[in-house]
Amino acid sequence: MRGLMQDRQLTIPTLLSRAETNFGHKRVITGGAGETVATWREVAPRVRKLARALTSLNVPPGACVGTFAWNSQRHVELYIGIPSSGRILHTVNHRLHHGQISFIVNDAADDVLFIDRSILPVIWPLVPSFRTVRHIVVMDDGGDMPLPDDPRILDYEELLSAQDDGPFENTVDDENAAASLCYTSGTTGNPKGVLYSHRSVVLHSLLLLGADVFALSERDVVAPIVPMFHVNAWGLPYAAMQCGADLLLPGPIKDAEELVTLLSRYGATFSAAVATVWRDLIPALPGHDLSRLRHIACGGGAVDDALSSTYEKIVGIPLTNAWGMTETSPVVTTARLATHHDGLDAEERRRLIGTPGPAVPLTEIRVVSDDGVEQPRDGRSPGELQTAGATIASAYFGADNGSDSFTADGWLRTGDVATIDQWGYLRIVDRTKDLVKSGGEWISSVALENAVMSDPRVKEAAVIGVSDPRWGERPMACVVPAAGVNLTADDVREHLRDRVASWWIPERIELMNEIPKTATGKWSKQTLRRRFAD
Ligand code: ADP
Repeated sequence: MRGLMQDRQLTIPTLLSRAETNFGHKRVITGGAGETVATWREVAPRVRKLARALTSLNVPPGACVGTFAWNSQRHVELYIGIPSSGRILHTVNHRLHHGQISFIVNDAADDVLFIDRSILPVIWPLVPSFRTVRHIVVMDDGGDMPLPDDPRILDYEELLSAQDDGPFENTVDDENAAASLCYTSGTTGNPKGVLYSHRSVVLHSLLLLGADVFALSERDVVAPIVPMFHVNAWGLPYAAMQCGADLLLPGPIKDAEELVTLLSRYGATFSAAVATVWRDLIPALPGHDLSRLRHIACGGGAVDDALSSTYEKIVGIPLTNAWGMTETSPVVTTARLATHHDGLDAEERRRLIGTPGPAVPLTEIRVVSDDGVEQPRDGRSPGELQTAGATIASAYFGADNGSDSFTADGWLRTGDVATIDQWGYLRIVDRTKDLVKSGGEWISSVALENAVMSDPRVKEAAVIGVSDPRWGERPMACVVPAAGVNLTADDVREHLRDRVASWWIPERIELMNEIPKTATGKWSKQTLRRRFAD
């Protein structure tokens, strides 16, 4: 017998109607030179006009609409308006190498791009390589690049003011319809797309409100510093709409002093970023009142205890870790103190919440040995971390669907090595995927090795991640010069200059006679990691 409850679809338009109806007075604040404050009552009609504008541009239902934008009110409007009108929001990281950006835009077949004017200088030179883009809508955020004289260029505000307010015309009625798309770095080859559904976005935003997750509520001022082009800013803009929190967005601000001033002035209570950002803000912390901050989320990598203890001393609270991936919406675990931690002293508590913690509702985690056996939950039996749930990808988008990333029973293989203890608390101990995470962004070791080896003066190159006090990890290249060649580290860097993004270029390059090999003749990165760990 079926239950007799209403079969209401979980879709993004319901988030907007909730924010507008119940929290019309709550604010979306955008920092930067042209700081703006708007209420949901003001934002909602703009979202609907945006949806109408997409129709006026003949953007077909189901088409991808790309964004290159900072965390801003306009980006929030795109976050809602694009999926609410049946199109797919495709956020793109403009810091990627231009080859990757072109690949991503073409793979998604983006029909229209929305670009912050301050980011336009990075993207405009790539436009000739975009095969499917018909229009480029510029959002004036104070950037000073003169607008190119090109019929494809449109202005965001002009586009909106040409529309009437009115209900969404062709809104989604299927919660399983695609809502948004984010690419994540593949270990080899090209980035892979993760295609979220309306249902997964709505469920994930609800999960974040949980008292044992981020406990977001109407009283919060939620400040996502994590970029909106990185896993939907961890879903925080949508979560703020669910609970009616004020949303505080840094806009194009990068300066630590300005950012801390913004957090302090608007009384941020919750903020989220990667460790590198929290580290960069330290010099600006003294002298600012951040006493309203009740939760500092630090994800995308491990929390280092010295950093957390600095925050505890200056701001009054330590950093709380969370584990996730682009493939997982992203939050799967977040640290919390449970009753069985009641005996811990302050230092132990700080260390505990600096670890990933247990799985949030609706998601499951397990660790599995190389031969496919699920490991005991004893906190000391490592295996590959696998995860399953309604907010976790079941396949990749695009030609390469990465089927080996999913198990026969449908769990996602994360490429992280972890333990789980008797209480379900996760610890990450290593990574099997060949990626280096620098400042929260991926560097593919394989792509970097190939770029180094495209130099005929190089015989072999292996790239490993080495820990770095500022960036968490940095790539280090171990390079064997071709016979008879006198090669320097600077030669290698010079060769990389136009081939990879500048932040991929390794500071540490070790020239050697041979790369250590495993029994099967593969490079033994484990040996290299052990040798250069410190
Ligand atoms: P995000 O940066 O949002 O976590 P990505 O898909 O870019 O998403 O990266 C996911 C990977 O980052 C994980 O598979 C893991 O290797 C690493 N990672 C994420 N969170 C943590 C954490 N809390 N501790 C250690 N590593 C983490």
